[in-house]
Amino acid sequence: MRVKLAAGNWKMNGTRADLAQLAAMQEATGKAEILICPPSPLISAAAEAAGQIAIGGQDCHANTSGAHTGDISAVMLKDAGASHVILGHSERRSDHGESDADVRAKCVAAWDAGLKSIVCVGETLDQREAHNTLDIIGGQLAGSIPDAATGHNLVVAYEPVWAIGTGKIPTLDQIGEVHDFMRVKLEQRFGEGVGRSVRLLYGGSVKPGNAAEIFGVSNVDGALVGGASLKAADFVLIITALNAS
Ligand code: PEP
Repeated sequence: MRVKLAAGNWKMNGTRADLAQLAAMQEATGKAEILICPPSPLISAAAEAAGQIAIGGQDCHANTSGAHTGDISAVMLKDAGASHVILGHSERRSDHGESDADVRAKCVAAWDAGLKSIVCVGETLDQREAHNTLDIIGGQLAGSIPDAATGHNLVVAYEPVWAIGTGKIPTLDQIGEVHDFMRVKLEQRFGEGVGRSVRLLYGGSVKPGNAAEIFGVSNVDGALVGGASLKAADFVLIITALNAS
């Protein structure tokens, strides 16, 4: 039985005043887990204010420490109170040129530090229109996830690049096709037990108005939410829909 997960990615948004949203999100506490990934400077304060909500980072370096100006290690995230880290978000892949191999190395570092990783995969619009979606997703899964994956240390988020922040989402059939494909790929590589226990999130323009139908799709175990996780009023409705699914 996979516990549903509502994960919020605040990206480069928020200051300490916005941590008040965490208290308001507590009202949606139910059977689903709730995770908020604020910008790094807020992690420590967020972890103190979070109550039942888990706190995560949005990236980590593959090394534990050293001469990497501006970077943050998984050990530091853990020390600041994080339990999770998002890795391989498409904005990291495009803005920072992160490859599957980079994501895989970061994932190993996250697990070594005791963090759970949310590994993001997703196709661009060109790739979807060229009917390459499943090839792309299969390649990203194979390249980005280390061999030691378990249902405890890994969550996978399917985030079509063209759906992030655009208000566009794939059809429910398209979401189901990718999630079923990812489940099969994980079972083939890690065995049925592990493959069935890894949670698969959908991400890309999830809103209160479309959350319930997305959560009804096979193998969708929750959502990775950007814009609609910034305000508790919206995120609470998404969590409520997940609790009801
Ligand atoms: C995201 O950045 O992971 C995301 C899904 O963003 P949005 O919900 O705003 O599309």
